[in-house]
Amino acid sequence: MLKYNYMSYEQNIKFTPEPAEENIFGVQLTPEEMSRELEKYHQWYEKENRKLERMAVPLNEKQQKVVGFIDEEFKKLFKRFNIENFDSGQIKIYPLKFQDFINFMKEDEAGAKFMLGGYDVLRKCVAINQTKDFVSDKSLIVWTENLAHELIHGKSYQVMQISKDNPSSKRSVKSIDIYRFGPQIYELGASTDYFGWLNEALATKLSVEMTEAIVNENKDLYIQSMSPKEKNKDHYQLPEKFVFYKPFRSVLAKMVEGIARKNKLSKEEVFQKLYHSFFTGRLLEVARLIEHTYGVGSFRALGNVKEENHQMALKYLESKDPQSQDKYAHKIMPDETEGRGRSAKQIPSREYQEYKKYQKLMAEIKEIREMK
Ligand SMILES: [Zn+2]
Repeated sequence: MLKYNYMSYEQNIKFTPEPAEENIFGVQLTPEEMSRELEKYHQWYEKENRKLERMAVPLNEKQQKVVGFIDEEFKKLFKRFNIENFDSGQIKIYPLKFQDFINFMKEDEAGAKFMLGGYDVLRKCVAINQTKDFVSDKSLIVWTENLAHELIHGKSYQVMQISKDNPSSKRSVKSIDIYRFGPQIYELGASTDYFGWLNEALATKLSVEMTEAIVNENKDLYIQSMSPKEKNKDHYQLPEKFVFYKPFRSVLAKMVEGIARKNKLSKEEVFQKLYHSFFTGRLLEVARLIEHTYGVGSFRALGNVKEENHQMALKYLESKDPQSQDKYAHKIMPDETEGRGRSAKQIPSREYQEYKKYQKLMAEIKEIREMK
């Protein structure tokens, strides 16, 4: 009976593709090794999810309503971004008590206190911090934005990669790791990843828009979480203090402005392209747009934006001449010797190579299945 409280979301969504098989890049593995790794992964996935299911606490009535609202918003969203047949598969929602939430996030108590939720690519589920403060009527707007945000991550494009030896993995299934998460790109064994900022900035912009739409349509439900000032407005807007990732959002805004100007597109059109790649994984068009706007190598440079260098990224996007652009590129990529890497378009071409590998792998998997 508890089940339906937190599983209600998934009833509307089919579980395709399966988390592993359809979604894995194969690297240097024989088919036998590959199916062994997949099997291990599946077992781990099932075990983890069963564990979380047992720990999950019920949602209250209002929260259950919110889950339905968000679901409706997703339907509108996919129409708006021209991905009508899109189906990212089922995402489980686990509302957890604080201690369980800390464990899920692999955070310490101090860090987890400020986290409202998290999405895990490998376990393909959202965990919600059901600490009292976050689940009161007074925080329902924040709760909504948080769940919408994590579900947007959950519905974004995701690919896992598999390799024989992954020394950086702390998981029990060592060979499986994230390769793509929305526009974010991970390298096996590398200490850094690319476009994490874009992933968060896009997810946040969308979750804010969704939340505002939901709140405006259901003001009665949310009235208790509104400040007196907001209550009297015709149109509710999420106060800035509820919106995270400000540095990343400012880089995104600047980048979209530049792309729109240079390519004679409206900002909405640029966002449409960015979100299309966010949900479908196709980064090449975005890469081309960025490079056409900011020059060869700029896609690679912008991949390296982090919170600590976002000011440099803003200056990079504002630079008018190649010289100052190079200067700021060096600051965004301090470890790179080639500056903004005019000749080294590693990410776009890597993407393409991986795509080729992926296609080959899919063909192989199909063959293995048919053999069975
Ligand atoms: Zn996020």
